[in-house]
Amino acid sequence: MSSRKLLLLVLVAVAAGLYFSLDLGRFLSLDALKTQQAAIESYRQAHPWLAAGIYFLIYVAVTALSLPGAAVMTLAGGAVFGLLWGTVLVSFASSIGATLAFLTSRFLLRDWVAQRFGRRLDAIDAGIRRDGGFYLFTLRLVPVFPFFMINLLMGLTPMPAATFYWVSQVGMLAGTLVYVNAGTQLAGITSLAGILSPALIASFVLLGLFPLLANKVTDGIRARKVYARWTRPARFDSNIIVIGGGSAGLVTAYIAAAVKAKVTLIEKHRLGGDCLNTGCVPSKALLRSAKFLSHVSRAEEFGMRRGADAVPGDTAAHHFSFADVMERVQQVVRTVEPHDSVERYTGLGVDVVAGAARLVSPWEVEVTRPDGAKETLSARSIVIAAGARPFVPPIPGIEQVDYLTSDTVWNLRELPRRMVVLGGGPIGCELAQAFARFGARVSQVEMAPRLMIREDPDASDLVAERFRKEGVDLLLNHKAKQFVVDNGEKILIAEHEGRDVRIPFDAVLVAVGRVANLTGYGLEEIGVAVTRTVETNEFLQTTYPNIYACGDVAGPYQFTHVAAHQAWYAAVNALFDPFRKFRADYSVIPWATFVEPEVARVGLNELEAKEKGIAFEVSRYDIDDLDRAIADSEAHGFIKVLTVPGKDRILGVTIVGAHAGDLIAEYVLAMKHGIGLNGILGTIHIYPTMAEANKYVAGVWKKAHAPQSLLKWVARFHAWRRSR
Ligand SMILES: Cc1cc2nc3c(=O)[nH]c(=O)nc-3n(C[C@H](O)[C@H](O)[C@H](O)COP(=O)(O)OP(=O)(O)OC[C@H]3O[C@@H](n4cnc5c(N)ncnc54)[C@H](O)[C@@H]3O)c2cc1C
Repeated sequence: MSSRKLLLLVLVAVAAGLYFSLDLGRFLSLDALKTQQAAIESYRQAHPWLAAGIYFLIYVAVTALSLPGAAVMTLAGGAVFGLLWGTVLVSFASSIGATLAFLTSRFLLRDWVAQRFGRRLDAIDAGIRRDGGFYLFTLRLVPVFPFFMINLLMGLTPMPAATFYWVSQVGMLAGTLVYVNAGTQLAGITSLAGILSPALIASFVLLGLFPLLANKVTDGIRARKVYARWTRPARFDSNIIVIGGGSAGLVTAYIAAAVKAKVTLIEKHRLGGDCLNTGCVPSKALLRSAKFLSHVSRAEEFGMRRGADAVPGDTAAHHFSFADVMERVQQVVRTVEPHDSVERYTGLGVDVVAGAARLVSPWEVEVTRPDGAKETLSARSIVIAAGARPFVPPIPGIEQVDYLTSDTVWNLRELPRRMVVLGGGPIGCELAQAFARFGARVSQVEMAPRLMIREDPDASDLVAERFRKEGVDLLLNHKAKQFVVDNGEKILIAEHEGRDVRIPFDAVLVAVGRVANLTGYGLEEIGVAVTRTVETNEFLQTTYPNIYACGDVAGPYQFTHVAAHQAWYAAVNALFDPFRKFRADYSVIPWATFVEPEVARVGLNELEAKEKGIAFEVSRYDIDDLDRAIADSEAHGFIKVLTVPGKDRILGVTIVGAHAGDLIAEYVLAMKHGIGLNGILGTIHIYPTMAEANKYVAGVWKKAHAPQSLLKWVARFHAWRRSR
């Protein structure tokens, strides 16, 4: 704590200490005021200015120090100075005192609160920045909210002091008048509680709600403005039109149909989008084959002997065809396909339209069918779920090398001998390891110093270690500069520590990120705001409140389960606004990268907690000690849980190891429902399972928080019992 803070704290403590130790509160009671009224009155008549000055200063001091007595002081204002001057004095003194209390609270506590709660305050801060004045006005107008609490709590928010001052002064005026007026009839007052009748409080509440309602009306007017240049159709063909039939669009349509809305789903390519056709499903199918192969190559670890005809060093890995593996991948896609088929969704009541959609007004979408025919459909609400695509960086020469992306890699039937994987993120890592396991010589090029840069270094180091062991040539701190074709050989030139490195290859997979699809379907024409994604508010509404966006096109996360999560909000808000709408909740978002060792996360990791200035404790359990992991020859990895210091509340979990993506589910549930590590520790986990690791890490936390001094006494108790 800085010396200035310490000084202020001491001053406040001394002043409050004096107030209570000298029982100064006895002068600020209704009885004391009544008894002293005549004396005070005669002093005021003799020294009107001095009396007003003393009264003003005492009032400011009492409110600035948040001492009890402001209500009696206000009555005194009316009793001694009359309605007009009493109101003037109280209005300024209370506003100045409140602002001093507000500033004191901010100076002493705001940093601590920001450090303690970090980004979790973002939503509150954003709300205060947007509507703080209205909230404060309501709180001030309704005199049942404790005056000093409002001052102290508002000090912890980012509200400007000037706004706090004037809103307080205006907001408190009505209450001040009531109390000062009551003070003018002091003799008739028997208790402070009697000053405000229930009817008077109700009127204040109504008055207080007025600015909030006015704010809502203003929002409505603002929203109407964006529609000014459009003519709204008199009737709509559907309740919702959904643009894009990937994870986000399908779930939106599903939910809308489930609640009996008329929904039209427009898809220009294949239902299922990236996840089914070029993303999660094919990649996980490919990884499964690659994992099987890696197990075969580890056969001896599992006590297997090679076939009698095997030559030393041979493995079953030599007996596979890459083309067959890629066919299996397509077979898996075909097997999953019915879940996302036109037939299924039509059966659910969705009107599925094949064609490219283009927004032509806030309620109308033009569809170009595969045969070129066009039609215009209308809906009360539109949900944009147009997804994202691989980002191809403009590296000189890239067009000459017939690069692959996650869209096209699935067409390969011949395994590239030498493969460059550009990018060390989740998609690059998953595919680099898979191709290496099939026998390609993979060079993974990443300009950052680590793989999977969003994860903690201890997680990405374990992955890198495994990759190197499996033969992936990790070229970290390598920045791709240029592609050249030299004598028919494709070469990537990358910059590493100031010099050029030449990496020859037969195929390059570009996996450096994904960009939202923002052009070519009318967003620009009708004026839907975009940045890197379609801009949305917390209800997933775009510039036009009846147009929503969800999934990869809206961000901020690019996962199928987040797309589906957002889709619920988009569908429900699109159908039921203005009667009811929900803010998309991103408080507990898990994800996994399906490399081996698998990496899964929910909530904060150490990197993010430090970045956001959130205090945390770490409990770690190494999975190499777990019975089931040992039995499965998967004894590697760890679970790391971040908790609030001194508490079992979970801030985030990182798991590295076999089945990490499944194990994390317990923590997702725990975080979602506020269950702490004590709750996990007290839950039975089946022996022997990998899930026991979740309990063991909770045990690590418990051990670190065992009440040592109590245990010393317990040990004495046992010793005492042994002695008799
Ligand atoms: C290789 C890879 C592996 C992945 N693995 C995982 C994983 O394991 N787990 C996970 O959670 N996520 C994973 N993802 C991410 C996941 O695939 C996406 O987050 C998810 O598909 C996003 O769904 P979406 O509906 O927003 O977009 P998309 O699935 O891209 O769907 C958008 C759809 O909109 C259509 N469309 C676009 N414009 C128009 C238009 N104008 N008219 C009509 N239709 C249009 C497109 O054709 C497309 O079908 C992976 C992605 C890749 C590339």
